[in-house]
Amino acid sequence: MASQQGTDQRVDEEGFVVDTEDCEERELAHRERGTSRPITVVGNPVLHKECKDVTGFDDSLAALVDDMFASQRTAEGVGLAANQIGVDLKVFVYDCPDDEGVRHVGAVCNPVLEELPAEERRLDDSNEGCLSVPTAYASLARPDYAVVRGQDLRGNPIKVRGTGYFARCLQHETDHLYGYLYIDRLSKRERKDALKQMAEGTPRYPVVAND
Ligand SMILES: [Zn+2]
Repeated sequence: MASQQGTDQRVDEEGFVVDTEDCEERELAHRERGTSRPITVVGNPVLHKECKDVTGFDDSLAALVDDMFASQRTAEGVGLAANQIGVDLKVFVYDCPDDEGVRHVGAVCNPVLEELPAEERRLDDSNEGCLSVPTAYASLARPDYAVVRGQDLRGNPIKVRGTGYFARCLQHETDHLYGYLYIDRLSKRERKDALKQMAEGTPRYPVVAND
């Protein structure tokens, strides 16, 4: 069956996927094919357990990714995991700038975060937010460089790397697919404060109400 994906993404000489080219066209094509869906929020069970592995790299996966790009744009996010639109599958999309302001656009199935050697870990304690914890932000220390291994929409193995805000995004989205929100990494008090911010705010995009 014809793929909606066009040609395979290029990789650089170190084997990392080139996700900085034709960003505008690729993101637009995905979201124009897709339909925006409401975002699940903290408390919805689908966000608090490990998602299932992607095993079928077919048109339904491509259609899901299109919907994810559409939803990400509606919610003005820089990354979105499938369980944030209620789908129990290990796939995330991103449209995120790195620490040099370079835009990265892509999708990763079955992501696994690579462990960095301790001497290469530099922590950055910037603010973090999540579409599933609307209107809340908190400072969270994370490594400022990240490498994720996974598969593309055709099942080919890929590696994605990022710095700065994009490194934070890769870690945040991978966490989602294992059932963790960034607020789960905060202290009890900071987590409580984030939930209070959420309770007091109004999301600027459609969300799925919890029972
Ligand atoms: Zn999130």
